[in-house]
Amino acid sequence: MNKGQAVYTTAIAAGEELPIMEAFYTLQGEGKYAGHAAYFIRLAGCDVGCVWCDVKESWDAALHPVQTVKQIVDNAAQHQGRLAVVTGGEPLMYNCDLLTDKLQAAGFRTNIETSGAHPLSGQWDWITLSPKKFKKPLAEVCEAADELKVVIFHKSDFKWAEEYAAMVKPDCKLLLQVEWGKSAELLPQIIEYVKEHPEWQVSLQTHKYMDIP
Ligand code: SF4
Repeated sequence: MNKGQAVYTTAIAAGEELPIMEAFYTLQGEGKYAGHAAYFIRLAGCDVGCVWCDVKESWDAALHPVQTVKQIVDNAAQHQGRLAVVTGGEPLMYNCDLLTDKLQAAGFRTNIETSGAHPLSGQWDWITLSPKKFKKPLAEVCEAADELKVVIFHKSDFKWAEEYAAMVKPDCKLLLQVEWGKSAELLPQIIEYVKEHPEWQVSLQTHKYMDIP
């Protein structure tokens, strides 16, 4: 088994059970739903390998417990909010059809945050695509994205962001987000870029300012 791959049982392949790194109720910090109460479901496992990843402990799915979709949804439903954000790791390494079916049946809006590097599964109310250089997103995910969030790590990343802006649908929100550790250097450049290219917006990681997960 390679790092980043789950212990791939039949139940995981069918999306009936999923490896969970963590799940918690908080506020969404980023993007269109920033400020909304949200239940985060962080699936374990990622094979993308971003150097600046802040959840590297999610990469090896075998280190995390597996839960049934029923357990995941029952835990989510114990909270007041009905916005579920499925993230990772890379959540599209798994079949998300049953998870989104059951979340929607329980009254949840289903949002996903993905690198787009694996085929799309699941029924999503909102898809946030955050492309990564280390493993490119698939065209099918680019075309389905509601929000394109590009993390700016180097000034050359603006050009790279425009390449993906050309691949998403016309009404997709375009967001530039500074890599947290580079804020002092690059946030002023992002602000100037958005003033020159107003089709883009700045995305701030407001949860870090609020000191919440
Ligand atoms: S895709 Fe996300 S979880 Fe995976 S390495 Fe990159 S930042 Fe980390």
